[in-house]
Amino acid sequence: MKGVKMLFAHDTAVALAAAAALVNTEQRSGDELAELADLEAFVAEWGWTGSRTRDRRELAAVRALRPRLRAVWRADEDTAAEIANTLLREARALPQLIKHDGWDYHLHATPPDAPLADRMAVEAAMAFVDVIRMKELDRLRICAADDCEDVVVDLSKNRSRRFCARGCGNRVNVAAYRARSRSAS
Ligand SMILES: [Zn+2]
Ligand SMILES: [Zn+2]
Repeated sequence: MKGVKMLFAHDTAVALAAAAALVNTEQRSGDELAELADLEAFVAEWGWTGSRTRDRRELAAVRALRPRLRAVWRADEDTAAEIANTLLREARALPQLIKHDGWDYHLHATPPDAPLADRMAVEAAMAFVDVIRMKELDRLRICAADDCEDVVVDLSKNRSRRFCARGCGNRVNVAAYRARSRSAS
């Protein structure tokens, strides 16, 4: 992730990636956050610590957060700011500089015993705040493949990332290549 450092603080880049991954668990082909075990896997993959209830209610709250986060990827600046503000307000976010587990000072805006969905909401909202303040909202976009709705965080230097991480770029290139070779023959 070279170049990312200059753009956003490391924790912002990680929070954006985690928020995008959460949004992208909602797939047309099926919900990847359907079961409690799915949430366990997601939480482990993205390194969420803090208190957990591990019940259907927690899962429902995390699932319900997804469309609210997704909205930021389609929003204009004022709407995105309002969404971030609302998420912060609802969870009563209180930014504090924290050092832990070998990480240098970074912001936590919720206590570790806040509900998982609240902590996810606030971490994403804090990252959106950074993006909006830095006038970089256009880096949050939807995958350019016609049949894909995945959200993309473009942290590339030349703002060139158009496709999601699920291989849409390759798929579209192969389809274009096939179309070209068909018309050539
Ligand atoms: Zn931390
Ligand atoms: Zn895609």
